[in-house]
Amino acid sequence: MTLRLAVPNEIVPGERRIALDPVVARKLIDLGVDVRMQKGAAASAHFSDEQFDGVTLIESVEELYKDADIIFKVQPPSMDELNMMKDGSVIVSFMAPHKNQDLIQRMCEKKTTSLAMELVPRITRAQSMDALSSQASIAGYKGVIMGADKASVFFPMLTTAAGTIRPAKVLVIGAGVAGLQAIATARRLGAVVEAYDVRSATKEQCESLGAKFIDTGVSADGEGGYARELTDEEKQQQQDVLDKHIALSDVIITTAAIPGRPSPRIISADVVARMKVGSVIVDLASEGGGNCELTQPGETVDFEGRVTIHGPLNVPSQVPIHASEMYAKNLFNLVSPFIREGELALDWDDEVIKNTALTHEGEIKAERYKNTGEQQS
Ligand code: NAD
Repeated sequence: MTLRLAVPNEIVPGERRIALDPVVARKLIDLGVDVRMQKGAAASAHFSDEQFDGVTLIESVEELYKDADIIFKVQPPSMDELNMMKDGSVIVSFMAPHKNQDLIQRMCEKKTTSLAMELVPRITRAQSMDALSSQASIAGYKGVIMGADKASVFFPMLTTAAGTIRPAKVLVIGAGVAGLQAIATARRLGAVVEAYDVRSATKEQCESLGAKFIDTGVSADGEGGYARELTDEEKQQQQDVLDKHIALSDVIITTAAIPGRPSPRIISADVVARMKVGSVIVDLASEGGGNCELTQPGETVDFEGRVTIHGPLNVPSQVPIHASEMYAKNLFNLVSPFIREGELALDWDDEVIKNTALTHEGEIKAERYKNTGEQQS
C-alpha cells in the first residue's frame, strides 16, 4: 500500500509557514509517496496550488487527515486536528512538548507515532534535519532587519557630502544559532557589533563573525552545549559588566534562552532608562517571556518616547518562503531515509529517530516528558 502523506493548512493565527514546498513534494513523489495537501494551504507562504505538480489537493480537512499515514505540520496539532487523524498514524511537527502534556496523552491513546522537531539531536549527522537551527537562523536575520527598520540611525559608516556618519553600535546577547546569524547580518549591514553569551565556547564563534566579545568573567556551560541557569551572584557580575555596554548601544538583539525554562531577564527597566535616546531592543526571546523586563510578547513598547522595545513572536513565519523551504527540507531529511518503494519503515535503532520520537505505540518515548501531569513552565 502506498504511503499517504498529508500536509494540512496551519491553523494557528499568524502562522504563515507550511511543512511542504514544491521541491520537497517532488522528491517525496519520486520516492513513491502519495502526497496530499489541503487546497490553498501553501498560499500564506506564497506558493500556489499549481506549483505542487503531482500533489493531490484536498478541500476537506477531515478527509485529508482521515486517510493519512503520515502528516507533516509546522505547529503542534490542536486536539481537534489530532482527533481527525486515524489511530496509529505518524506525525512530524514541532510539538512544544514541555507545555503540551494533554496532547502527548492523547497521542498515546491514539497510538500516534510523533516525531517532535524540537527533539532532533544536535549532532553533526542530524544537522540537515535540525529545524530549531534552520528557524533560529531566520529569526536572527529577521531580528536585525527589524532592528534596522526601527533604528533612528544608519547601520553602516557613511562618508557623504553632508558629513561622515558613524556606524551603529549593535549588541547581540545570546550567541546560539539565532545570535550568530544576527551578528553576521548586522556586520553585513555595516554595524559595529558586540556580542555576549554565558557559554565561553561562543567567544571564538562571535569573533570569527566580526563581533567583539564582551567578557563578563561568568561562564555557564551546561548540558549538551546549552546554557545552565546562573546563580544570583553570577547574574550580578554579568549585569555589572553588560549594563555599561547596553547603555552605549543603538540596537540590541537579545536571543538568550535556556531549554524548558523562562527566558533569563538580562535587561532591567532601570537599564533601559539609561539607554541612548532613539535606541531599539529587539527581544527575540519574547516567546519565553523575554530577556528585557519591559518586553511585552507580541507588542512594541515605546518607553517614554526614548527606547523602542520590540517583542516579536514567531519571527520565522515572517520569512515564510525560505522558512517553509528550509523546514520542509528538514522534515524530508529526517524521514526520507526510511521510505522505500512508497513504504515507511522507521528504524527504531537509529539514533536520530530514537531521540526525536515523542510518542510511539501508546508510550511516551522521550525520557524527559515521561513524568506525566508534571507541566513544565
Ligand atoms: P538557545 O536558543 O537555547 O539559546 C540561545 C543562546 O542563549 C545560547 O547560546 C545560550 O548559551 C545563551 N544564553 C542562555 N542564558 C544566557 C544568559 N543569561 N546570558 C547570555 N546568554 C545566555 O540556543 P541554540 O541556538 O538552540 O543553541 C544551543 C546549543 O546547541 C549551542 O551550543 C549550539 O552550538 C548547539 N547546536 C549544535 C548543533 C549541531 O551540532 N548540530 C546545531 C545547532 C546548535
